[in-house]
Amino acid sequence: MIEQPKRELTSACSRTNKPLRALLAADAERKHEGENMKCPKCNSDFESVTYKEIQVDRCTGCYGLWFDMLEMDDLKKIAGAGSIDIGDKKVGDVHDQNRKIDCPKCHVPMVEMIDKDQFHIRFECCSSCHGTYFDAGEFRDLKEHTVMERFKHMISTVRTNLK
Ligand SMILES: [Zn+2]
Ligand SMILES: [Zn+2]
Repeated sequence: MIEQPKRELTSACSRTNKPLRALLAADAERKHEGENMKCPKCNSDFESVTYKEIQVDRCTGCYGLWFDMLEMDDLKKIAGAGSIDIGDKKVGDVHDQNRKIDCPKCHVPMVEMIDKDQFHIRFECCSSCHGTYFDAGEFRDLKEHTVMERFKHMISTVRTNLK
């Protein structure tokens, strides 16, 4: 009586074996294209947003932003790119407490970073693929404060040199 359901389960598995392998192959292909990434903080899907022909991945759950290193350098140069960062800063601040995350692409632990010019901006960087993750509101903040903070740095540098 107990053996019967076990045998049924085995045959069910072997029946689905082939399509499952095909499914996994398709899944691996999607991962390669970066379409199947899950948000490292809330596990939601990413959606692609394009700003002036530059593609960025944004989380559909917490609105965290995923950049390749080159993408971020490009975006910082473009005025108004902060508009893609539509998330609530308060939500981002909650997720900002979660610092121990794995890269959504390579699944290796990401390194905590601090923007060299803005010490209140903390983000995560992957040492393997050099992808960067920003919590909602952080990238916008990075854009808005850059000029003012650079100016403050300049003034303090001048003052130090004059002493
Ligand atoms: Zn998320
Ligand atoms: Zn990575």
